[in-house]
Amino acid sequence: MSGAKNISQKVNHFRLKLDEDELLPENKTCFFCGHTERNPVFVLQDKPLIRLLECTRCRAASASRMPREETLARYYRDYYPKDETKKNIRVTFKQVGRFSNHLYKLIAPGFSQVENLQILDYGGGDGSVAASLAGKMIAGGLAKNATITVVDYVEELTAATGSISLKRVDPGTPFPENTFHIIIASAIIEHIPEGGDVVRSLFSILKPGGFFYARTPWALPMAGFSRLLGKKWNFFFPAHVHDLGKTCWEYSAKNAAAGMTIIRSKPSIVESSFKTRFLVTTAAYLFKAPWYLFPGTYKLVGGWEIVLRKNT
Ligand SMILES: [Zn+2]
Repeated sequence: MSGAKNISQKVNHFRLKLDEDELLPENKTCFFCGHTERNPVFVLQDKPLIRLLECTRCRAASASRMPREETLARYYRDYYPKDETKKNIRVTFKQVGRFSNHLYKLIAPGFSQVENLQILDYGGGDGSVAASLAGKMIAGGLAKNATITVVDYVEELTAATGSISLKRVDPGTPFPENTFHIIIASAIIEHIPEGGDVVRSLFSILKPGGFFYARTPWALPMAGFSRLLGKKWNFFFPAHVHDLGKTCWEYSAKNAAAGMTIIRSKPSIVESSFKTRFLVTTAAYLFKAPWYLFPGTYKLVGGWEIVLRKNT
């Protein structure tokens, strides 16, 4: 690879063009439900052509060609800007306290008290969101102490406190079924080619009665809207390889082998704050607001979040 190409790729990091040898052959079925019928809805790149294919059954949209594992590893190492890595991968949510409060309010009302709370923070960076949530669960009398398992490549975890311990494992590490009381998968599934397999395995390692939280971008409706205005949407491929909204998450929940009850399925929490990013935050709230008036039809919400409880 020449130096010049390298520099331009750094500038246009999100539009890094992938060559034939960096891609897997086309997957013939939906990654999330296994359906064979999918429609092309967006061109992610030309030559080799990579499109976003939308499943006609569960509505998951995924790249028609997935980057090879080593391609993705190199992408994150060499091209993905470090501040974006931090924002999107490492600490998936900047305002840790506000986010853990949001999670606590969704989980605590239906949670039965335990002695040692087991939380899996999947792709959770330094584990600070899970640690903050654990602190609130303990303060709320729902647990005596907590063990947090972070699945990520991050080198340093947030500091442990007396009643909360943290450990890190590499992605792909297997866990026994029915291990965790709470699983957090915030802004991570969209990055993983085999995302559907990961979701199914997370459901299986959740304890009966346990809570699962996920948050993913749902940009496809926004991309269509943007096209009407003559602008091309950036899907952040190959960082994002899936686009997952309401239908896909609810389909996955309803068809989960273990049986999952939907506690919440709504536009995702706004990530930025008025204090630091006024315009972005205002726009995010404005775009999400009409959904509350027209939940059946309005889709320009940008992201989706779901809270599920595993049936006992
Ligand atoms: Zn599907």
